[in-house]
Amino acid sequence: MALPFFPLRLRPRALRLARLLSRPGVHFFLTGLLMVLGFWLAHRLSERGGREQLSALSTERLELYATNLSAELGRHASLPSLLAIDPTLQALMSSPQDPERRRAAGQMLARVNVRAGTNQIFIADAQGRVVSASEPLTPPARLAEAVAQGRNHFFAADAETGSTDFYLLHPLRQAQQAAGVIVVRFNLAPLEATWVDLGLRSQNERILVADDQDVVIMSSVQAWKYAVLDHADPSRRRALQASARYPQAIGPDLELPASLEVHQGQQVRLPLPGSRPMLAQQRQLVPLGLRLVALSDLTEVRQRAQYAAWGGAAFGASVGLLTLYLSSRRRALRQLTKAQTELQQAHAQLEQLVDSRTTELRRTNDALKTQIAQRLQTEGELLQASKLAVLGQMSAGLSHEVNQPLTALRALARNSIRLLEGGRHDAVAANLQIMDDMVERMSQITRQLKSFARKADDQPAGSASLADCVRNAQVLLEHRSRALGVEADIAVPRGLRVRAEANRLEQVLVNLLGNALDAMEHEPVRRLSVQALPVDEGRRVLVKVRDSGQGVGEAELPRLFEPFFTTKPAGQGLGLGLVISAKIVHEFGGSLRAEPPPAGERGMSFEFDLAVETWEAVMEQADV
Ligand code: ADP
Repeated sequence: MALPFFPLRLRPRALRLARLLSRPGVHFFLTGLLMVLGFWLAHRLSERGGREQLSALSTERLELYATNLSAELGRHASLPSLLAIDPTLQALMSSPQDPERRRAAGQMLARVNVRAGTNQIFIADAQGRVVSASEPLTPPARLAEAVAQGRNHFFAADAETGSTDFYLLHPLRQAQQAAGVIVVRFNLAPLEATWVDLGLRSQNERILVADDQDVVIMSSVQAWKYAVLDHADPSRRRALQASARYPQAIGPDLELPASLEVHQGQQVRLPLPGSRPMLAQQRQLVPLGLRLVALSDLTEVRQRAQYAAWGGAAFGASVGLLTLYLSSRRRALRQLTKAQTELQQAHAQLEQLVDSRTTELRRTNDALKTQIAQRLQTEGELLQASKLAVLGQMSAGLSHEVNQPLTALRALARNSIRLLEGGRHDAVAANLQIMDDMVERMSQITRQLKSFARKADDQPAGSASLADCVRNAQVLLEHRSRALGVEADIAVPRGLRVRAEANRLEQVLVNLLGNALDAMEHEPVRRLSVQALPVDEGRRVLVKVRDSGQGVGEAELPRLFEPFFTTKPAGQGLGLGLVISAKIVHEFGGSLRAEPPPAGERGMSFEFDLAVETWEAVMEQADV
C-alpha cells in the first residue's frame, strides 16, 4: 500500500514508529501517560478556575466590607465640625474654667450624643485634658498624642469592653489660637458583631481589619483579635504593648506576607493549629490607614480539583483504552484480511494443483483405457486360443468318434443295398433309422463344436438352463469320458435356469470337466459328479464339479488361477482354462474356487455360484 504522506526516505521510520506504537506494552505505557497527563491537566485547570471564581467572589465581598466600614466610620465625620460652630461651645472656649459654661456645654453634648447615636462627645484642651463631656469619663491614653499631632481621627482600645473605639477629632480655636479639641467617640463592637455573625455563618470566609501597626483591630474570628499580621519580634511586641492602643496582650503572629495581591489573591497557611490553606486578598482604606484582609478557605476548591483530576485521569484512560481497542481491532482486521488473502492464494494454488492433477489423471486414465482395451483384446484372443486348444485336444477323439459312425454308416449302407436287392425292405428301413440316428449324433457334435468355437460377444448375461449346459459339455467330452470309463453322477434339476450366457457357461463346464478327466486319466477309480445346491435361500445356486483324480499338491493350490500355470506336459496344457473360467464366472456375478477334498480322500473339487432365474423344486437326474 502506498503512503503518500511520507517522503520515501521517512517511510520506513514512520512504519517502524507505527509498529512500535501498536505494541500492547507501549500502548499500556501511553495509556498510563495519558492518565497522568489527564490527572495533572484537569487538576490544574479546575484548581485555577476554582481559585479565580473564589477570588472574584472574595474581591466582591471585600469591597462590600470596605464600603460598609467606610460608611460606618464616615457616618459621623461632619459631627465635630458642626459642633465647633455651636455658640455654647464657643462660649465655653472663651472661658473654659467657668463651671456654668462647662455644665451648659456638658448638657448640650449629652443631648447631641444621644441624638447622633455616638458613644461619647467631649471637649479637651490642647494638653488632652477633658474640659467638658457628655458624661464623666477618663480620656484615652492616646488623646494627648493625637491632639499634639493634630490628627482628625484615631483608634484606641476600650479598656472596659476590650473592643475598638473610633475617635473623631476637630480643633476648637479661640482668637485664631488652638484652644482645644472636640472629640466624638463611637464603638465598633456592633459592626464587628455583624462580621462575627457573618463569619460564623460562612465556614469558608474570614475577614479582618488591621491598623497602621499591622495589628488586627477587628475580625470575624475572635481568636485573631490583636494578632500581628506578619511577625513581631519581642521588642516590637513590647513597643506595641506599651503604646496602650490595645486592651490586652498582643495576639499570635499570622505570618501573612507583607504585601498581598489585591485581586488574584495569594495562597497562605496560617501558623495556627488546624489551619487550612487559604486564599488571602487585601483592600486598603487609605484615608483611615486601615487594611482589610479576606481569607477564603481553599479546601473545597482543592477537593473539586481532586475530583476533576480523577475525572481527567479516567478520561485519559478511556482515550487510551479506546485507542487500544481501535488499534487492536484494526490489527485484527488486518490479520483477517491477510488470512483471507492467504486463503485465497492457497485456494488458487489448490485449484491449480487440482487442475494439474486432473489433467495428469485424465492422461493416466486414457493410458489405462488404452491398456484395458489392449488387455481385453488380448484376453479375447487368449480365450479364442484356449478354445482352439481344447478343440485340438478334442480333434483326436472326434476323428475317432466320427470315423466309427462313418465306418458303421458305410457298412450299413452296403448292407442296405444288399437287403434292397434281397427285397428286405423292413430291414432296410431299420438300417436307415439307425443311420439317421448316427447322423443326428454327429451333427449334434459338430453343432456343439461350432458354437464353442464362436467368439463370445459382449452381450449381457441372459438366462440359461444349467442342465442343458452340463449336458452339452458332456457331449463335447463324451468320447474321452467313454474311453476312460468314467462313472458320472450329475444332479442338476431340469427346471433350474441361471443368470448366464449358455455358450460361455458351457465353456466353463467343458474346462472343469476336461480338467477332471485329465486328472483321472491314470487313476484306477474314475468318478465324476456335478451338483447344483441352493444357497442364499434359493436366490443363488452353487455348482460343484468333483472328481476322484490325482488332485492338486499344496504348493500348486495357490497358483491354480495364475495365467499359464499348468502341470500338464508341453502341447497338452496352456494354463489358461481356469483363468478364463474364473473370469467368465465373475462376469456372471459369481466366483470360482478350488476346494481340496476332505482329508483321506483323493481328487479335487471346483465350485462356483450363480444367480438363480427360476428354480423348479423337482430335482431330476440328468442323462449322461
Ligand atoms: P491346463 O488345463 O491347460 O493346464 P488349466 O488352467 O485348466 O490349464 O489348469 C491348470 C492346472 O490346474 C492344470 O495343469 C492342473 O495341474 C490343475 N488342475 C485343474 N483341474 C484339476 C483337477 N480337477 N484335478 C487336478 N488338477 C487340476
